Amino acid sequence: MSQSAVSEQGTRVSLDLDWLKENIRCQHRCPAHMDIPGYIRLISQGKYLESYKLMLETNPFPTVCGYVCPRPCESKCKRGDFDKPVSIDNLKRFVTDYIYKNRIKIPAPKIEKRDEKVAIIGAGPAGLTAANDLAGMGYQVTVFEKESRVGGMMMWAIPSYRLPRDQIMFDVSNIEARGVEIKLNTCIKAPDKTISSESPDNAISGLLEEGYKAVFLAVGAQRGRKLEVPGEEGTEGVMDCLDFLKNVSAGDLKSPGKTVAVIAILTN
Ligand SMILES: Cc1cc2nc3c(=O)[nH]c(=O)nc-3n(C[C@H](O)[C@H](O)[C@H](O)COP(=O)(O)OP(=O)(O)OC[C@H]3O[C@@H](n4cnc5c(N)ncnc54)[C@H](O)[C@@H]3O)c2cc1C
Repeated sequence: MSQSAVSEQGTRVSLDLDWLKENIRCQHRCPAHMDIPGYIRLISQGKYLESYKLMLETNPFPTVCGYVCPRPCESKCKRGDFDKPVSIDNLKRFVTDYIYKNRIKIPAPKIEKRDEKVAIIGAGPAGLTAANDLAGMGYQVTVFEKESRVGGMMMWAIPSYRLPRDQIMFDVSNIEARGVEIKLNTCIKAPDKTISSESPDNAISGLLEEGYKAVFLAVGAQRGRKLEVPGEEGTEGVMDCLDFLKNVSAGDLKSPGKTVAVIAILTN
């Protein structure tokens, strides 16, 4: 099986996933198929900037991943067959912190522009990654975001002590440098319906009529899971986790009370 990754210049590089699975298990396991041996080799040679550039070729959010990636690569690291896996994510974090602290900006690659426009709905990691890759291929990309800030759950659900907001915006600045336009406070919806409802046609056809050749829906999953027990809606003091986290991220640090029960649903 093969899968493409987008290189810095926007040309597509074919990856042989079956070969990777046998030979470079960490890269196969990485959802972004980052060139892990490549960027670690560059770090070992002290070439931090080159290492960072290599990371950016397959993942526009290396800084964010340095903080919150669940590091599936490490459980497949071959070094773990002998003693302990290499601390891949910490190495990535070391480089991205170095780049961020020194405010090193990578000039956007020279890309031949195409005429076609693409609309992306949602400025979370999925929408912004698609925007980055499509802009890298020369398309004119506009991202429509309903909130006042980009980032989706990275910005609103993961607390800032785990993922500093400036670091998210540092990654986003590389995407914007490719000419991606981001329209905030712009909810794309059919009349009286959100786009995630069963009838998104009106909103989509409106964008197509405006001249967008393709529309990518990257709206995520915006509703918390319900327990479906009496009293969970409309009872004072009962809060949905996403609402709570979003309020905290927006600066509303009101204490919910002295005694708090947290109900977590475990899934397989
Ligand atoms: C509490 C919590 C902690 C997490 N911790 C981690 C972690 O440590 N590590 C990790 O890897 N992952 C973590 N995740 C998961 C990660 O955040 C998600 O997998 C990721 O954000 C999904 O990206 P997405 O772009 O698909 O959706 P989202 O991040 O939800 O982005 C969707 C975007 O679309 C916008 N949107 C929706 N509807 C419209 C519309 N009609 N018009 C315009 N814009 C719209 C939304 O406002 C949002 O900005 C966590 C998630 C949560 C909730």
